Amino acid sequence: MKRCFPVTLLALALAFGLPPLLLPRAEPAPAEAPARTDAELLLRLRTDAGVQEISMAEYLPLALAGEMPAAFQPEALKAQAVALRSFALFQREQGKAAHPEADVCCDPSCCAAWVSEETLRERWGEDYESYAARMQEAVRETDGQYLVWAERPILAVFHASSLGRTEDGAALGLSLPYLQSVSTPETPETVRQLLSTVEVTPEDFAASLLAQDPTADFSGPPETWLGPLRLDAAGRAEGLQAGGRDFSALTLRQIFALRSTAFTLAWDGEKFLFRVCGYGHGLGMSQHGADCLAKAGADYAEILAHYYPGTELVVALR
Ligand SMILES: [Zn+2]
Repeated sequence: MKRCFPVTLLALALAFGLPPLLLPRAEPAPAEAPARTDAELLLRLRTDAGVQEISMAEYLPLALAGEMPAAFQPEALKAQAVALRSFALFQREQGKAAHPEADVCCDPSCCAAWVSEETLRERWGEDYESYAARMQEAVRETDGQYLVWAERPILAVFHASSLGRTEDGAALGLSLPYLQSVSTPETPETVRQLLSTVEVTPEDFAASLLAQDPTADFSGPPETWLGPLRLDAAGRAEGLQAGGRDFSALTLRQIFALRSTAFTLAWDGEKFLFRVCGYGHGLGMSQHGADCLAKAGADYAEILAHYYPGTELVVALR
């Protein structure tokens, strides 16, 4: 499962390796050779043991295992495999400021999770053989396939879940034509903990925000502290005034460990209450949404076309 981490604009820009203003490239580089098979696509992977060159065929099953529950629908697993392949090829092409010596690392807050076979044997226990086979199959059945926009691999970011709609890339400084807010089908009935709450005492609330901005004023009663919540184009929180100062939703997410920026905030007379929808930054494919679409009969190409609108699926030559 994609771990969901507090993100800031700077972290996003760093994580994706490029200042947002440089995306997309004004002049695409000459088209690469036609898509190749996973065995022919080489990647420099950074792990705790150092940098190793491995093929996409070796990399992807273990990245897929790190990023999506093995019990998800086969078409959702295939969509995730294509997203991971696209993401890795994007990184290989663009380079990564955080680790110029490697195309991808195994930190999910930087690139994508990647877990060793030993870890998976421990994690999956007696299900290891069948789960590993599901990963291999999803990769093999999408061999060499990735998403392009203007003939280049796309920044195929993804997240765990959203409620109703995904986030628009522009809201997080990633104005990419294929990272638009789109509908997503998961509901609180289909996803456990799609809705979550975080309670904060007024003392903790004031102290946490003062640590961010010491000029905020929390001298009055708590019911006077909050200004109206500002929403972004996708309907998620963008920010609000508290103690007379502006705080972005990303900052609030980070400070109070909220599962996403799709939240509301209210004072209930005793404490501040965040009600949060979904998990993750909300960009690109929703993993739980992909699983729901697959259960409803969508294939992986349809799932990908939904979450990355306007992209094309490039199919490997055999
Ligand atoms: Zn990385």
